[in-house]
Amino acid sequence: MVTATADHGRVRLDTMPEPAARPGVRPDRALVSRIGGAVSRTTATILIVEDEFNIGKLVRTYLERDGYAAVWVRNGEDGLVELDRHPVDLIVLDVGLPGIDGFEVCRRVRASSSVPVIMLTARDEETDRVVGLELGADDYVPKPFSPRELVARVKAVLRRTQSRPLPSAEALVCGPVELRRDAREASRAGVALDLTMKEFDLLACFLENAGLALTRERLLEQVWGLEFPGGTRTVDQHVAQLRAKLGGALTIETLRGIGYKLVKP
Ligand code: CA
Repeated sequence: MVTATADHGRVRLDTMPEPAARPGVRPDRALVSRIGGAVSRTTATILIVEDEFNIGKLVRTYLERDGYAAVWVRNGEDGLVELDRHPVDLIVLDVGLPGIDGFEVCRRVRASSSVPVIMLTARDEETDRVVGLELGADDYVPKPFSPRELVARVKAVLRRTQSRPLPSAEALVCGPVELRRDAREASRAGVALDLTMKEFDLLACFLENAGLALTRERLLEQVWGLEFPGGTRTVDQHVAQLRAKLGGALTIETLRGIGYKLVKP
């Protein structure tokens, strides 16, 4: 249910004429709204940084409809201020902003935070996408986009990033292989395995789903979280590397036309 505060914000917004972008100006209180009063631990808060009024409003509406708390600001400087002020779970960040652009915002966010970032841009150019990803963005949605698709991406990124840390210091064990996410350590018969970051994440994904068929797409989403232009060959390459490093300690079966399965010993 929407609270009086959120209703109030919405009414004020609906009657507001579209204001011009004002870089450096504090966000209007009407642009900040929440669902259900105080934000509970189970409600993810999404920070939207988007100068275009109609897009910002639409994105906020769809996110709130899906149960997220949304904070919307219209320039990068305000976005950085809001990030300090709220426990933000994910940022939807437009590239083309007045003042500092989305790339610079992403760069500054990454200097101090690992909060997931999804970038929005009107320019569907590979160079922009690569720049965003190199700066540490988690996903990229070119405009025009469907709000439903964006919400689906938000969910996918949150699922992936929130599932990363284990709630306890429990180790994942399968045969002679043991992996501890909290310590970023993996070993075979007590001897440390020298894995790259992605090989480690891939092994963790296999261990968590031992005995289950995993499609290449699922692995790509869980470990990389992105649809690479190169397709799922990245997964195949990393599985091959992981197999070599495991040296037969575990069996990762290839399921023709599907993906892979870690065979339970
Ligand atoms: Ca823009």
